[in-house]
Amino acid sequence: MSKLSTKLGIAMVGPPLAAGELNRPLVGESERVIIALASRCHRVPYAMCCLSIDEIDSLAPKRDEDSSEGKVDKISVLLSLIDGIKDVPNLMIFCATNRLHMMDEAFLRRMSGKFFVGRPSSQARTKILAQIPEWALEPDLIDRLAIASTNFSGAACKAFTRAITVRCMAAQRTQPNFHVNYKEALKIADRTAQQYQIFLGSETLPRLLLRNLMSGSRIRVNHLSRHMYAGRIIVDLHDGSARIEIIETGDRIAVIEHKLFPNETSVQSLLERLTVYGKDRNVQLLQLIDLNLLASQGAYDEKKVFETLKERYDECVAYTRSMIIYDLDSLVGVNKSESDSSMGRSMSSSVVNQSVYTYVRARFREAVVEQQQETDDGTQQMVEKWAVAVIREPFLLRQFSSDVQFARTRQEEEELELERRKAEDLLKCVKCKDLYIENENKMGNCAHHDGFIYDNSAPDLAIYTQSEVAYMLTKLECDAINYPDRREEFERQKNKFKWICCDTTVTTGSGAGGCKKGKHGFGEPVGDRQRRDGHRLDQTMIKRWEEECRRNQEYNEKWLLLLENRGDLWRNHILPSHCSSGFSRAGIFPYDSRAVFKEKLFEPPALSSSDAPSNFIDDIGLSNRSVLRPTRSLSCTALSTDALAATTNPLQQPNLISSFAMTDDALTTTNDALTTADDISSTKGAKGAKGAKGAKGAKGAKGGKGAKGAKGAKGAKGAKGAKGAKGAKGAKGAKGAKGAKGAKGVKGAKGIKGVKAHI
Ligand SMILES: [Zn+2]
Ligand SMILES: [Zn+2]
Repeated sequence: MSKLSTKLGIAMVGPPLAAGELNRPLVGESERVIIALASRCHRVPYAMCCLSIDEIDSLAPKRDEDSSEGKVDKISVLLSLIDGIKDVPNLMIFCATNRLHMMDEAFLRRMSGKFFVGRPSSQARTKILAQIPEWALEPDLIDRLAIASTNFSGAACKAFTRAITVRCMAAQRTQPNFHVNYKEALKIADRTAQQYQIFLGSETLPRLLLRNLMSGSRIRVNHLSRHMYAGRIIVDLHDGSARIEIIETGDRIAVIEHKLFPNETSVQSLLERLTVYGKDRNVQLLQLIDLNLLASQGAYDEKKVFETLKERYDECVAYTRSMIIYDLDSLVGVNKSESDSSMGRSMSSSVVNQSVYTYVRARFREAVVEQQQETDDGTQQMVEKWAVAVIREPFLLRQFSSDVQFARTRQEEEELELERRKAEDLLKCVKCKDLYIENENKMGNCAHHDGFIYDNSAPDLAIYTQSEVAYMLTKLECDAINYPDRREEFERQKNKFKWICCDTTVTTGSGAGGCKKGKHGFGEPVGDRQRRDGHRLDQTMIKRWEEECRRNQEYNEKWLLLLENRGDLWRNHILPSHCSSGFSRAGIFPYDSRAVFKEKLFEPPALSSSDAPSNFIDDIGLSNRSVLRPTRSLSCTALSTDALAATTNPLQQPNLISSFAMTDDALTTTNDALTTADDISSTKGAKGAKGAKGAKGAKGAKGGKGAKGAKGAKGAKGAKGAKGAKGAKGAKGAKGAKGAKGAKGVKGAKGIKGVKAHI
């Protein structure tokens, strides 16, 4: 005040008055002193008089219903002096206060000019701290001390500077090389802060820093300097991240995330980070609003809580650059309730202190970082009102973020998109061709078959996929219309396809549904709802699903079992009547390749004479399909061996394959032997007979008989032999027939030689 008066060129008559001096204990005394002061000015109307009162807030406090009468009187006297009936024209009153928000509104209105002298910004603090003599401090500490002295007023900064200097001087008397180190400086700062009542939460900032220092966790915090910021930060203690809104080009608001350190688990431990943020933004005031603050202000009822909140907020508003931190969990609180119902256990959360929540939410929205504002004197100045919400409870975080429309992180956006898709997108199920929405996709909604289809009429039980069968059935239907005379035949064929899973006959149309119930799968977005019926499913999707059905191990085993049974039936099914000639020579399963035509094996005798080409599966236009069906060559041996081997091959059924392979071997032998035997018997009489006899002698067994040319029935017996011992016996029989040399003679070839030699 005295500096100001010299600047203005005013001679000080007396020392500046403190408001306390005007507060007299006796009723009416204070008013009398005020009036006496004013009346002095009346005596010198030609001179401009100044009255300066420090700490004016105690003289003109806020008037409310519980104010004492004396208080009100003083204010009314002051008011009348300033602009009222007793107005003294040549009196100028200077007042100073630290608590503007606690002053009487009417009094403030009368004041013609209000000037705010805030706390120094971090740059200003750095300047003040630089006054510490170089010899007193370890180097490079100024910046860190500027952080530690956040919120210090100018006076406190000065006091801090002095305290460090004094401490150093004192120590250097005994230790000439003494420098104040960071720890020591923090201790001094802590003392200063306590003297000046500069608290952040329940503690002073230097003490917090000191504690962090002791626990050995000096944090290298990310800085706030590279982006354009929106002035809003949400710290998520649960996930350990600080989300900071930034403004991207084009005014789009995005979020960057700073990962918290493992030891940053509470608001207190976060303060170091937040003060670093504050320093980066050069803020003048950092406010922490938490339960500790409310408790220290004695704010236990709602009215007082709001007063405190508003007071702190107003204080921040007065500064150009400020940061206000809300510890939302402790301020608001979350009520969690659990309930059991038929739908299962459910959790519901709700905000406890709705009014505080609403207040904080509104303040949070007001946070702003203005860009480069031109002030009157041409200097550029940023208005930065930062708001930081520290939240631990996930429910509160979600609620708050959406309420203040905090920008979402990319991950959150993706999650949201997924949720939306689950709730809205119409999908078409490949399994049942039905439409569904993922959120409603429950067990049992989808009725489908999970197996493949086999052709019950085919000897090799050819396997088809659903799409193929659908195609074939349609084709049959079409044929039935095109060839009315063969209608019955086609109709019969329509019933030959069976589901392996449930043994039902496959019918055209989707009406049948499936034998299994489950969730829809292999869904595919349909897109526009209007086109839902016209939508075609992606063929590769269908293929994938059908492949899956095809590979079902259980059904493959079932199919093999069926096939084996069919194999027996098949073998026994070959009747003499099937062969017009030469069957006798075929004696052994399944038939002589030259003697029996494939056609005869497929159809009952009555039809075998018919030369209608459509009797065969291959003829109804399926021969060119590509999938799954084993290729069957026209050769008859191939039918018995190759076909079976091919169908079993992918399944790796070693038993079956080997048994058939063996038969095959035997067959070759037999056939060759037969040929030779035939040659012998038919070509040359005596010698041939001899050969035959030799054969008889050799084994005397059935084989011999067959060889003797009994033909027909006996041949059949031979065939049986072949079957029984899986070819081994048959082979023997064959050899017997050959009779040649009787040699254990491995192969038919040898046998032949033997016979030939004989010839
Ligand atoms: Zn089924
Ligand atoms: Zn489905």
